[in-house]
This record gives sequence, structure tokens and C-alpha cells, in this order.
Amino acid sequence: MTRYVVVGGGIVGLATAYQLVREYPDATVTVVEKERTWGAHQTGHNSGVIHAGVYYPPGSLKARLCKAGSRSMVEFCTEHGIAVDVCGKLIVATDPAEVPRLHALYERSMANDLPVRLLDPAQAKEYEPAVACVAALHVASTGIVDFGAVCVRLAELLASAGARLHLGSAVTGIRPDRVTTTHGEIPADVLVNCAGLHADRVARLAGVVPPVRIVPFRGEYYELRPDRRDLVRGLIYPVPDPQFPFLGVHLTRMIDGSVHAGPNAVLALAREGYRWGAIRPRDVLDAATYPGLWRLGRRHWRYGLGEVRRSLSKRRFTASLARLVPALTMDDLQPAGAGVRAQAIRPDGGLVDDFLIVRRDRQVHVLNAPSPAATSSLEIARHIVATLRN
Ligand SMILES: Cc1cc2nc3c(=O)[nH]c(=O)nc-3n(C[C@H](O)[C@H](O)[C@H](O)COP(=O)(O)OP(=O)(O)OC[C@H]3O[C@@H](n4cnc5c(N)ncnc54)[C@H](O)[C@@H]3O)c2cc1C
Repeated sequence: MTRYVVVGGGIVGLATAYQLVREYPDATVTVVEKERTWGAHQTGHNSGVIHAGVYYPPGSLKARLCKAGSRSMVEFCTEHGIAVDVCGKLIVATDPAEVPRLHALYERSMANDLPVRLLDPAQAKEYEPAVACVAALHVASTGIVDFGAVCVRLAELLASAGARLHLGSAVTGIRPDRVTTTHGEIPADVLVNCAGLHADRVARLAGVVPPVRIVPFRGEYYELRPDRRDLVRGLIYPVPDPQFPFLGVHLTRMIDGSVHAGPNAVLALAREGYRWGAIRPRDVLDAATYPGLWRLGRRHWRYGLGEVRRSLSKRRFTASLARLVPALTMDDLQPAGAGVRAQAIRPDGGLVDDFLIVRRDRQVHVLNAPSPAATSSLEIARHIVATLRN
């Protein structure tokens, strides 16, 4: 009877525990989550998009697990009565200079075997009448869901399968045979670290020197005033800058009918810093003393500065969105919270692009699981359990 302990009750941790109880019904599976609710951090503060897999290099973990994950997520939601809508999305080029990048996305989507179609402006308007563009890419298999609701269902399934679920309990120490938490010790043969924004720290607790540092990037949202929601039918994205893993501020219809605008990407001054005022000296010091962040900053300071200015100016934020939907004005937008991405950075300043999942003996550490990890979570879980088995 192997005793598995999963650290982190976000969607990746819960999905992994769910995969473990399904594959090993006799094992003891425990999930330890420091917050009082499931999915309290990245999973509960995202855009709720089931990504199709357009952006990821063919053969990468992201490409494989996202494509399979988008399918298994829709199946899971359908089976468990969770609202889900495969509404498709539009990626729009608003400037002729973006068209070659749009075409590159089309080629990549074809290589990833995804249902995409290049559109001219009139065809794009058939999907999104308020959009302005010079060309667009329609992705039919993109969907929307509330990933928080998926977490709640996963926790219910785990509870009924006999898993031990500890909310409000933080992991503070890891030994080969046990995990220490703020509420006592848990015997453990196998550890799975799905601690999101703290994954590198949890790896260190387990005696593993992570090859990366997690740096928090906040993504801030506005939402459309209810009477202006009809400007957006589904999902409208810009053509992303391929140098960055962030997709650019976009317009997203949520599964509850609201329309979110964002997220941007600014360096957060706390790993769970949801506002500018949230500053945690330990986290600031951690980031400021990391050579990788300085190297990244030297290369991309102009982009970073642009993001900060947009974060501080609603006018700039609106202008970015109005490139996609010209009828949008500042009055149409109201603040709608933020999420913080756990982005792994290498010591050379490189942003880790793919998912990074590392096995050490009887431990697996998920060291980079940014977007589309929520989409891919059920497949990341399968991948983790296979990694442990092999
Ligand atoms: C703004 C934003 C928008 C996004 N949009 C999308 C999207 O549309 N589609 C998509 O697929 N993905 C999206 N993502 C990415 C997605 O949300 C994440 O990839 C995914 O939620 C990661 O899940 P996780 O379980 O790894 O991390 P988390 O959800 O962050 O969970 C990690 C958990 O570990 C817990 N923890 C940490 N340390 C400890 C400890 N010591 N002891 C116990 N518990 C601990 C934390 O409290 C946390 O609950 C977005 C992310 C953000 C921030």
C-alpha cells in the first residue's frame, strides 16, 4: 500500500490525486492544501479558457497535453454536469505587419492537427460583428469553463474514493518517509509537488535544487459593463508576440455570461500579490537576488515597462482592447480582479516555455505549469502518474 502525498490543491494537484486513486485504488492518497478552499490561487483566478493548443511547438509537452487535455476536460465536465461551452475563438491581426505571425500560427495549428481556418475581415465579422481586423484565425475547438468548479468536483470524487483531503494545512518540511505540515506529520512513500507559485520552494524543502526560479507575474482584468457585453460573442485574442509566453490582453466571454478583458503581465511584488499594494519582502528579495530575473529584465525592459504603464493607466488598457473592438471605451470597463502566474525562469534569464515536470527518486516536482495547465490538467496528471510508474 503505497502512500502518496500531493502538495497543492489547485487543479493540477487535484487532477493528479484523482488519477492516482483511479489507477491505484488500494493506495493511500493525501492532498495537502494551505488555503481553506480548493483552487484558491492560479486555478481560481484565470480566464477560464479551454485552450485548443494553437500556440505550442509541435511535439512539446504543452502541444500534446493541451490538445488531449482540451478533449478530456470537455468530456469530464460533460460527464459531471459542469457547464462547459466549446464556443471557438478568433485570433485577429489588426495590422498588416501581424499577418505573417498569424499565418505562422495557422501553420503551427495545422502541424498540431487542430481545426482552424484563416478568415478575411468580412468572414471574421460573421463570428464577431464588433471586431476590426485585416485577417483572422478561427479556432473551433477552444472552449470556456469554470476551472474552480472542476476542482470542487475533483475534490468530491476524491473524498468518495477515500482520499485524505487536508485544507488549511501548509507543508513545511519533507523527509523521505514523511511530510510535515502545520497540522502534523503525514507518512509518505511518494511525493508529488504541485505547489504552483511555491513549487520551487517546496522542491527545496524536499532536498531538490530546482533548475529554475518561480517568478510571479500578475495578470489584471477588467470586465465589460453588463449592458456592453453584446460587443463580444465569444473569445477575441490579438496575435501574440512569440518572444513571450503571455497571449496579450484579450476579450473572453466567461461561462457565467460576463466578459473579461485582460490579463496583462506585470511583475508581482508578492507570489500571491493580487494588487500593487501587496508586497512581501521575502518574495521581493527572492526575485531581486535572482540573476535570471536581471538577465530577463535587461533583455525585455521595454516590454516590461509597457506592461507597467498599461497596468497603471486604464486609458492604455482600453486602447489595447480597442485595437480588437474599436467600439470599446473606457466607460465600458470596470475592474475585475487579477490572477498571478507562476512563471519559471532559468538562471540565464530564459522564460521556461514548456511544462517542466521533474522526477527525483520517489518524487515528482511540477516546476512550470502556467497556461494552458488548467486545460491540460487531466493529461498532466496522467503524465505525472506515468512518470512515477516508469
Ligand atoms: C491570470 C491567469 C490566466 C490564466 N488563464 C488560463 C486559461 O484561460 N486557461 C488555462 O488553461 N490556464 C490558464 N492559466 C493558467 C492556469 O490557471 C494554471 O496553469 C493552473 O491553474 C495551474 O494549476 P496548479 O494546480 O499548478 O497551481 P495553483 O492553482 O496555483 O495551485 C497550487 C496550490 O498549491 C498550494 N500550495 C503552495 N504551497 C503550498 C504548501 N507549502 N503547502 C500546501 N499547499 C501549498 C497553493 O495554495 C495553491 O492552491 C491562467 C493563469 C493566470 C494566473
